[in-house]
Amino acid sequence: RADIGLYRAKATGRNQTTLESAQRPAVVSELRAALDSGTIDVHYQPIVDVADCGRIVGYEALVRWTSTEQPDLTPSGLITIAESSDLIDELGRAVLYRACTDAHSIQRTLGSRLTLNVNVSCLELVRETYATRALATVAAAGWPFDQLVLEITESELAADSEQAMAQLQQLRRVGIRIAIDDFGSGYSSLNRLASLPWDILKIDRPIIGDAASARPMLTAITALSAAFGLDVIVEGIETQDQARLAAELGIGNAQGFLYGRAMSLDEITSAMPAATAAPD
Ligand code: C2E
Ligand code: MG
Ligand code: MG
Ligand code: MG
Repeated sequence: RADIGLYRAKATGRNQTTLESAQRPAVVSELRAALDSGTIDVHYQPIVDVADCGRIVGYEALVRWTSTEQPDLTPSGLITIAESSDLIDELGRAVLYRACTDAHSIQRTLGSRLTLNVNVSCLELVRETYATRALATVAAAGWPFDQLVLEITESELAADSEQAMAQLQQLRRVGIRIAIDDFGSGYSSLNRLASLPWDILKIDRPIIGDAASARPMLTAITALSAAFGLDVIVEGIETQDQARLAAELGIGNAQGFLYGRAMSLDEITSAMPAATAAPD
């Protein structure tokens, strides 16, 4: 019953990957084995404070796994396979536990408080025990609830999915914040902005990537976010011009290749990028 009240994104990379996956059964058994042996990796992409010279304030956890059966499998493709083979709950839990564990080391390296962002599939969220299980996982890793953000892709979640809304409310009660991921490129309803239990809005990469419309779009979305009391993270900052525009519009936080790609825990702790590290 996990698919009640969900929209499945159409024509995304994720669905294309599913269709192209001729060796899917083999990939599924390989993935199951990887989950059993704990060999799923997680990398971390910095999230920065735009106004404070790109100081790192958090990291987004992004799953990484190399399949021998399908070497060109992307992270999005992996999620699609996990979602369609009943492995998404286990994969989500593995990523959440690993990220919350690694976050302690990353925070020590950074030398200042950080927020950890973790993606959640809508198929995980519609299970009525999701919040209880997620809270136990985070607690087992000893990561503070008020330094955790769970990201849910906007286009996949229906406003009328009462089960998912109940899970979000339960998570927020203990201080976990909820981000709408990839806002602005899928089906975005203004009504949903007002009615759903969000704290943060993540503006999808194509919005700032379109030089002609970036300024008016960002101005409008920033005003909307402020009106609804949402914090903003703009995704996909690749150039200095884009960073300047975000700063000029008063956007709080940003993420993108300009500031850093997703890195392994080892890469982060052994070579903290001096240019973006906290000045103090
Ligand atoms: P997302 O949550 O929107 O994550 C951001 C994606 O954009 C990441 O791709 C990141 O590497 C990429 N990105 C960040 N900055 C830039 C940039 O400046 N330019 C470009 N071209 N790309 C940038 P990635 O790691 O391939 O992940 C793709 C999607 O897969 C994620 O999109 C998310 O929806 C999903 N995903 C990844 N890890 C997980 C996970 O652990 N659980 C779930 N449920 N989904 C995940
Ligand atoms: Mg995300
Ligand atoms: Mg997403
Ligand atoms: Mg995103």
